[in-house]
Amino acid sequence: MAGRHYGFRTSNIVESLNSLFLEEREMPIVVMLDAILHRVMDRRFERLQVANKLIAAGQQFPPSMLKVLATFEFHTARNNQVERSSIREGKVTEDALVEVTFGRMERRERTVLLDYTNMTGSCTCGRFQENGIPCGHALAFMTHVGAVPYAFIPAILKLTAMRDSYNDEEAGTLM
Ligand SMILES: [Zn+2]
Repeated sequence: MAGRHYGFRTSNIVESLNSLFLEEREMPIVVMLDAILHRVMDRRFERLQVANKLIAAGQQFPPSMLKVLATFEFHTARNNQVERSSIREGKVTEDALVEVTFGRMERRERTVLLDYTNMTGSCTCGRFQENGIPCGHALAFMTHVGAVPYAFIPAILKLTAMRDSYNDEEAGTLM
């Protein structure tokens, strides 16, 4: 599928809305539209409050994103070997032996590329470019060259983006 996943897999929008509006779906049409409007406004207000509260507490990322980041950071715990060509490129060899084809074990080698202009990167495992979030190999490489991993996380995943998307004055009135 094209586009970045940011570490999330979700149902399509129709399924999401169907499950969100289970009660409203049974109502007469005008009452239903009114109920949906209020439900959406309440949710937007709640999420704006959550974002403001967490920003005030000095947090950078929404709770859902922290969970994703925790699973990604877990991979740095592995004792990967890093061989740098430059601060932009290097090879990362996984510590564990993996079976590459039937019966053949080897240490898997990945190539990490960092783009310091756009603060993005890629890895031959494919996860960095798919999610927009550094994979374990990229994190190991960043640690090795002294790059700051959080700087490579897209702004769209930060609390400020969450606040702005639920702030009607910033985003324009959607409903
Ligand atoms: Zn990788």
